[in-house]
Amino acid sequence: MLANYTRSAKALSDLLKREGVEDTQVLGAIADIPRHVFVDDVLKHKAYENTALPIGQGQTISQPYIVARMTELLRLAGVRDKVLEIGTGSGYQTAILAKTFSKVYSVERIKALQWQAKRRLQKLDLYNVAMKHGDGWQGWQSQAPFDGIIVTAAASKLPQDLLAQLADGGVLLAPIGEIDQKLIMVIRKGDNYKEHIIAPVRFVPLVPGDIE
Ligand code: SAH
Repeated sequence: MLANYTRSAKALSDLLKREGVEDTQVLGAIADIPRHVFVDDVLKHKAYENTALPIGQGQTISQPYIVARMTELLRLAGVRDKVLEIGTGSGYQTAILAKTFSKVYSVERIKALQWQAKRRLQKLDLYNVAMKHGDGWQGWQSQAPFDGIIVTAAASKLPQDLLAQLADGGVLLAPIGEIDQKLIMVIRKGDNYKEHIIAPVRFVPLVPGDIE
């Protein structure tokens, strides 16, 4: 661990506050979680910058601003308890979710990333997270319903299986599109699914189909 990461993580949290993130739980989680643990040694010096970074396998750890903003959007929509994340990647967003919701489920299709993320969360003593290797398009049926679902890779269209795994009153947040991506929020009320466009975004693709 970097000797003085606490100061860097607090500075990142302060920066995100200036950028408009308001939720104190989310800002607290950004200040608490050592982001350098989630990147390779050669990139550790960039871990507390507000940028996405490569994590291998053609994937990236998301920009801290979008991690914080998406987490805040779920909280603003009233989600508190049970959250499903699609695209564990480095595990950083998973760690932030673990600090801000009661129970987190996370699905990743690349086994090496899933194992690495699992070890990192254990090292940080975050035990309210369940992880699995699988295809995120299918969600996690046996653990449904979820109060919140957060997709951290861009889907070509809204994944219907995920919508079906939302609790009544539940909220899904997902980047949708290919070149031109938009962050979409869907709120379920009974059989009614209301869509809201939040902002333009840029994510790696949610890969269709089978597990590697
Ligand atoms: N929140 C992560 C984002 C990682 S990038 C972080 O900040 O580190 C997106 C992740 O989604 C990648 O790890 C990629 O392997 C994963 N992914 C892509 N398609 C997927 C699918 N169909 N099912 C599950 N995970 C998928």
